[in-house]
Amino acid sequence: MGTILIQKETTPDPISLIGREAGVCWGADITDPEKNYKRGMGCLTSGHGRTWEYPQVYVVMDGYSARVFREFYTHIAGGPSRLQASTRYIDYETGFAYVTPPKVEKNEEARAVYDGAMADITSALQKLEALGIPREDCGMLLPLGMESKVVLRTNLRNLIDMSHQRLCTRAYWEYRDLMRDLMEGLSSYSQEWNTLVDSYFVPKCDVTGFCTEAKSCGRRPKKEA
Ligand SMILES: Cc1cc2nc3c(=O)[nH]c(=O)nc-3n(C[C@H](O)[C@H](O)[C@H](O)COP(=O)(O)OP(=O)(O)OC[C@H]3O[C@@H](n4cnc5c(N)ncnc54)[C@H](O)[C@@H]3O)c2cc1C
Repeated sequence: MGTILIQKETTPDPISLIGREAGVCWGADITDPEKNYKRGMGCLTSGHGRTWEYPQVYVVMDGYSARVFREFYTHIAGGPSRLQASTRYIDYETGFAYVTPPKVEKNEEARAVYDGAMADITSALQKLEALGIPREDCGMLLPLGMESKVVLRTNLRNLIDMSHQRLCTRAYWEYRDLMRDLMEGLSSYSQEWNTLVDSYFVPKCDVTGFCTEAKSCGRRPKKEA
């Protein structure tokens, strides 16, 4: 199971920060915390998206699959910065942790096949290492299911947009779990983040009011309906 660590560099008061930054441009009194919060909420409810890019999020995501991080990397809005655990410097020849999908976990026979394949990869890595093949070349064998770690810096707007895609029932199950873990981590980081997650981190059908996917889960009616 993956873990989320919201780092202390994350903006503690995202709503108030939005209000302060917007207030500068409106010639407002930005020394009043109550007015800043109210102004910040106004920017959010009015959909003034650029202001949502002020709150920064620094997070360590650990123990999720390399596969889910591959999908994570497609979210490029806001120029996020990301570093991922190296497959060149970390020694995986002694074995590697991997994610087991719940449907495999529940099926004893499938579990044996799955674990067996992972053990075979570890064994092949060891044989290649013994043959003097450099680690960066052995790493080609590492599976997408292996656990990895990413250090991310992004902003509120990027995460809200991501939630619309990745809370969709049609999204990959591990990404939905990761998204919910992120939301839980942010919610407990501060009260203002809790408010934002409650109000703005929703699947895209909650934004549009109808389902935009070709194959609908039925949570919302299709537009045509
Ligand atoms: C059910 C489902 C199935 C999927 N299947 C696949 C799949 O098979 N393969 C796959 O690769 N992905 C798949 N995805 C992921 C998806 O297609 C996107 O790649 C992913 O959501 C990230 O792109 P994005 O535009 O949503 O986010 P971001 O890149 O973070 O962009 C967010 C928003 O910023 C704006 N923006 C970003 N870049 C630009 C730009 N250059 N110019 C102007 N505006 C910009 C746009 O308004 C955009 O909506 C799937 C997602 C779902 C929910």
